[in-house]
Amino acid sequence: MTPPFADRVKTIQQSDIRRFSAICAAMNGVNLSQGVCDQPAPDVVKEAAKQAIDDNHAIYTNLRGTAGLRRAIAEKMRSFNGIECDPETQIAVNVGSAGAFACMVLSSLNPGDECIIFSPFYSYHVNLLKLLGINIKYVDLQPPDWQYSQEALAAAFTERTRMVLINTPGNPTGKVFTEAELLAIADLATKHDAWIVTDEIYEYITYDKKHVSIGRFPQAKERTVTISGASKTFAVTGWRIGYAVGPAEMIDRISVVNDLFYICAPAPLQHGIEAGLQLDISYYENMCADYLVKRDLLVDTLRSIGFSPHIPDGSYYMLASFAPDRWVDGTAATESILKQVGVATVPGSAFYRNPEDGKYQLRFCYAKQMKDLEDACQRLRKLGSGAVVGVKST
Ligand code: GLN
Repeated sequence: MTPPFADRVKTIQQSDIRRFSAICAAMNGVNLSQGVCDQPAPDVVKEAAKQAIDDNHAIYTNLRGTAGLRRAIAEKMRSFNGIECDPETQIAVNVGSAGAFACMVLSSLNPGDECIIFSPFYSYHVNLLKLLGINIKYVDLQPPDWQYSQEALAAAFTERTRMVLINTPGNPTGKVFTEAELLAIADLATKHDAWIVTDEIYEYITYDKKHVSIGRFPQAKERTVTISGASKTFAVTGWRIGYAVGPAEMIDRISVVNDLFYICAPAPLQHGIEAGLQLDISYYENMCADYLVKRDLLVDTLRSIGFSPHIPDGSYYMLASFAPDRWVDGTAATESILKQVGVATVPGSAFYRNPEDGKYQLRFCYAKQMKDLEDACQRLRKLGSGAVVGVKST
């Protein structure tokens, strides 16, 4: 028997996202489970990182990240997000956007404080908050267009509310929050003097809708921390380069917490991302066009096998429903599909405040190279429509 564990990790376990990804790897299947984004990074990003290694950029960087990367982020925040920020005082480079989020929560919330989250949610947000003893108040996004009720949002605020968390474009729904929704959130957060944290890691992946950053609104500026990173934009999820942008006083704290945990993000990789941020608009346009083709291929495939996909407006995930008489729940569906055709997905229940709401849903990730996605779709088509009367697979 080992000595006892801390209370906060007594019930902690590996996420469904990673669990099915690992099983898939072990059986050499096609992974549409974890958003690993296994596509090639732009050459300019890779070359600059290699050059930085050759140039011996091997030591700790400033605790806020390299000056060059922060300048490049500030320029991107101005031109893409419409947010003016000082690269010296208002940007902290972190170990991934997950690192930025953790440092932000540690800098703003005490155990017992409340954070408002929209459900479906990205499970890592929720589990990190739980780990740190934060109470979560959920507001449901209603399918098919994932709108929330203004009354429900207003009712979720209490005198203990210290943060409202937005994820736009959202994982797993692909919801892109509208300007009107963001302004309403900003009003309530101001009224209750709460922080607004907005995770915009999928900001460059939108289809018909335009990405809007809540941090650009003057009324939200003093309470908003915008989190993003390089993982999805440059397909470098394992490089762990993320950042937080916000009021100088908060960025000071985030930088010091970041220093205590990580010292700094990997130095040569910061140089690679700085180079990536110089890419012109055509890079981002091509990326979106590519994801649109992949999204539509997956939509067609899922419809042909009897699923009802929720078509995302952004990000590279898709929730899709199956008939309740086909599998007993999402876990059974995930296991059965993996076993039958070797394609990994995530049970929808992992993303809902009330797991029952996602019981007959799966999340599919289409951030794959086209040949791999085509392989996955061919395999999925072998499942057939599932419409055969009397057949119930578990
Ligand atoms: N964001 C990705 C997902 O939702 C992967 C993150 C992770 O592995 N935790 O699948």
